Amino acid sequence: MLQFLNKSLKSSNTFQLDVIADRVIELSDKADLSAAIADLSSSEGKRMILGGGSNVLFSGDYNGTVLLNQLKGIEVTGEDEEHYLITSASGVNWDGFVETSVKNDWYGLENLSLIPGTVGAAPIQNIGAYGQEAGNLIESVTSYDILNRTTFTLTGAQCRFGYRTSIFKNELKGRVFIINVTFRLRKHFTPILGYRDVAIRFEERESDGILAAEVREAVIEIRKAKLPNPAEIGNAGSFFKNPEISTAKFTALKQKHPGIPAYPIGNVVKIPAGWLIQEAGWKGRRYKNCGTYPKQALVLVNYGDAHPSELLELKEMIKTDVMEKFSIKLEEEVNIID
Ligand SMILES: Cc1cc2nc3c(=O)[nH]c(=O)nc-3n(C[C@H](O)[C@H](O)[C@H](O)COP(=O)(O)OP(=O)(O)OC[C@H]3O[C@@H](n4cnc5c(N)ncnc54)[C@H](O)[C@@H]3O)c2cc1C
Repeated sequence: MLQFLNKSLKSSNTFQLDVIADRVIELSDKADLSAAIADLSSSEGKRMILGGGSNVLFSGDYNGTVLLNQLKGIEVTGEDEEHYLITSASGVNWDGFVETSVKNDWYGLENLSLIPGTVGAAPIQNIGAYGQEAGNLIESVTSYDILNRTTFTLTGAQCRFGYRTSIFKNELKGRVFIINVTFRLRKHFTPILGYRDVAIRFEERESDGILAAEVREAVIEIRKAKLPNPAEIGNAGSFFKNPEISTAKFTALKQKHPGIPAYPIGNVVKIPAGWLIQEAGWKGRRYKNCGTYPKQALVLVNYGDAHPSELLELKEMIKTDVMEKFSIKLEEEVNIID
């Protein structure tokens, strides 16, 4: 377990913000877990857990202790006729985990390729992309309760996964350290081609002949064409959630804005936040040292030397303009760290 004082977090957050943490504990050995958590919970000031830093916006220097999760290890922990149970330590890189799964013929994760971050953060906001969500494949999550100093396991159902949410973003927010996640992955591959971008790639193919590695490759290509690479330009992916509104509100909005895209889900209608931001005039617009990505307005980017306050100002201006134009309140997907 390594410790650093007054350490820059620039390389530990994908917005690449040069904020300083009072103290950083790097946890890479599971044997050090309880000592690290004890240290974290007894430390003065604020405390937080950081994985890949790809879903956080620090609002300034961090006056407290950061536990940087680097626990590694993937193992097969069970199987039945149709599935493998695969348990991954929480500090494993998410895309490395997807790659390992595809190579070993453990199926289901392909559409979630190239999402940055760690396995341990995947259940927190129930990461999703191209018609798949991590929660659909999670068998259980084992965590350490920081207050009670006990380890406990929740089943997938107990995690209460929803659209970019789970119990870890609600009742258990800030209370647990996720140690490992067990996935129920299939032995037989069935491609998920519901999303237009993915479907187009395979429209002339019989679904039986499509390989998991091909779907992974296609998803990687689509993502690279659309989203900024955080290694080149600081960002945290989609900054806001896609809002869900009532059918009545949608009908009224459609009269005023006939081009509004919509995805009905049960009693509500999901509206792409990127479209709302674009129509509010923010697509590709710069503000001080930050702005929105020209190819996808939902992604806020740091053009190099942005101060956290500039990104906070930008996201507030976007929220205000979307509210004024559409009477829709955008909600942050990214975790703001005060
Ligand atoms: C270019 C880009 C594209 C993206 N695309 C997608 C996408 O398609 N779909 C999607 O859903 N997300 C996407 N994201 C968001 C992000 O990749 C995911 O939310 C990811 O799961 C965050 O993982 P992380 O390890 O970086 O979490 P961090 O940013 O380090 O942490 C996020 C939150 O989880 C907490 N946390 C992290 N690890 C633990 C742990 N072990 N125990 C307890 N709490 C913990 C942190 O305290 C923090 O509150 C994208 C981000 C980027 C930069």
